[in-house]
Amino acid sequence: MNTSASPGGDRILPDGVTAAGEGAAAAPREGAVIPAQDPLSPSVPSSSAARRRPAVRAAAGGARLGTAPSPAAATGAATATVTVTPPTAAVASPTAASPDARSAAATAERPPHAAVRPLRRRARLVVATALRFEAMAAGRSGLPSDTIMIRTGMGPERAERAARVVREARPDAVAIIGLSGGLAPGISPGDIVVASEVRDLDGTVVARCASAPLLAGDLRRLGLTVHVGPIVTVAKLATGDERTRLAATGAIAVDMESGPIAAGAGDVPFAAVRVIVDSADQELGRVDLVRRGVVGLRTMRRLGPPIGAWAAAVGTRTVLLAEPRAFCAGVERAIEVVERALQLHGPPVYVRKQIVHNSHVVADLAARGAVFVEELEEVPAGATVVFSAHGVAPAVWDQAGTRELSVIDATCPLVEKVHAEARRFTTRGDTVFLIGHAGHEEVDGTLGESPGRIRLVQSAAEVDSLEVEDPERVAYLMQTTLALDEAAEVVDALRDRFPAIVGPGSADICYATSNRQNAVRRVAQEAQLILVVGSANSANSVRLVQVSERDGAASHLVENVGDVRLDWLDGVETVGISAGASAPPALVEELTEALSGLGRTDVAVRSVGRETVAFHLPKELRRAAAATPSSPASSPSSPSSSSASSASTA
Ligand code: SF4
Repeated sequence: MNTSASPGGDRILPDGVTAAGEGAAAAPREGAVIPAQDPLSPSVPSSSAARRRPAVRAAAGGARLGTAPSPAAATGAATATVTVTPPTAAVASPTAASPDARSAAATAERPPHAAVRPLRRRARLVVATALRFEAMAAGRSGLPSDTIMIRTGMGPERAERAARVVREARPDAVAIIGLSGGLAPGISPGDIVVASEVRDLDGTVVARCASAPLLAGDLRRLGLTVHVGPIVTVAKLATGDERTRLAATGAIAVDMESGPIAAGAGDVPFAAVRVIVDSADQELGRVDLVRRGVVGLRTMRRLGPPIGAWAAAVGTRTVLLAEPRAFCAGVERAIEVVERALQLHGPPVYVRKQIVHNSHVVADLAARGAVFVEELEEVPAGATVVFSAHGVAPAVWDQAGTRELSVIDATCPLVEKVHAEARRFTTRGDTVFLIGHAGHEEVDGTLGESPGRIRLVQSAAEVDSLEVEDPERVAYLMQTTLALDEAAEVVDALRDRFPAIVGPGSADICYATSNRQNAVRRVAQEAQLILVVGSANSANSVRLVQVSERDGAASHLVENVGDVRLDWLDGVETVGISAGASAPPALVEELTEALSGLGRTDVAVRSVGRETVAFHLPKELRRAAAATPSSPASSPSSPSSSSASSASTA
């Protein structure tokens, strides 16, 4: 808790106030513990029975959790009186089920090879809150019924004492939730801040919270506005100049308890989730105090399920990285084309369609001056335009000529190879079947090589209905990003129907697509869950999800770390990660890092070989580079321009 005032705090509410209403119970006293039943205990009482049971008060001097002796008690250290009670309505969750039932349900949904794993003990979650009303809001928030709740009291000194109780709880996961003040511009009252790290007043990092983007993702799916960044813990309320000074350190929120509780958590996964009630430009006045406090507490009452899901995802885990994964040579080249065009011509440089199908790449280039357009009509006459890696139909080249645009062609050479085959087959009079998916830019471009003579075939089921002028003169081609097994099915059907059909001289499905599919299938043999990093419009990324699903692993496409739903990870001990050919490798690193915040994580690579492919830059850029000696494009050390294309994997 750190705000310029204390909504819901002890100063504005009489001591001993208890919450009323459904699911409410008395907020625990400062330093108090509400322990859960051991989730593995065969005699877990029903919550109604638990409610009827009287609380047992331990002697002052330490917490008692189960039968574990308290070090504080042993040393006679003075701590707040600790209340030990059975589970109460304050932490009852309407979604709570017995651990056995949860495990059984989870097992039923898992793929067959995962169903034989032993039942896992549910993580012991400790949730700390500072103030009485924060504790009551947390208690009504839908946290798991076996959550251990600790009320710290306000300020770092009290939180430090409570940290001992946290340690004694032998938690598997610790979270602190409550109200606090925002520091960074753009953070407003009502927003949520999830700590990426917790710092103390002198800037020392007390705890890193690597899983913050995962928790933030679940919170955003509730419709909340969530920021992830450092939280600083201070000794007294930060206002005015002190708030400005703290903001300058890079911290985005300030509180008074997270630091000591994070320290108390030790090595176990830790999360700090704060609801902002005041900010630099919206400090709390007396009029706003209660209103914002009430709004903040209401928001707190929504935090339980995501924090419960976060705790359920905690555990020891292995991450298997598929190799190869992420950027292919064609994508690296296309991105470099735009970067060099920006260097040569200065912004704006127009790009027709997304240069590659990845939102991060597009946003990054847009921030540097690239202007993405859907059609050439949007490009001013005479301007420079880049054609994307997916290629264009000849009609688009004609249109660019009419508008006197200066074109830099970033079409992948392997897409261009398919275009060349299309021209070769149609020139000699063949009917060409293009195996691919309608609406993909690459398919549109290839079909455009000879409209009418090239026909799209999307599945084996369509083959029976195909009619051609001359069954002796037919050929087939493929979109470069198809699934190998699906494409083979269609080719077989075409061969059955048209025995004279001929195919491309070499495989159209490119090396990058094939390698990534083989690698993800290798990982799917061991992993219970496959996460594929890529955008939804990336065909090769979507294919990776499909092929690993067909191999029996639960698989999901994620554009960002925050797209990973925490419940996917519940009970999952081996996660496989791959990334589509248009996805930046850094996103895989971010995802691996976030998973490591959920507990000890061993990372291993499962490789089907290494790629050593590179493509020359387009001639337009090479010519320009030659004419500009200082340009980086002319540098012999330039990685993309230094080697001719060659494709290989083991
Ligand atoms: S996925 Fe294949 S065809 Fe597409 S850009 Fe990469 S190498 Fe080229």
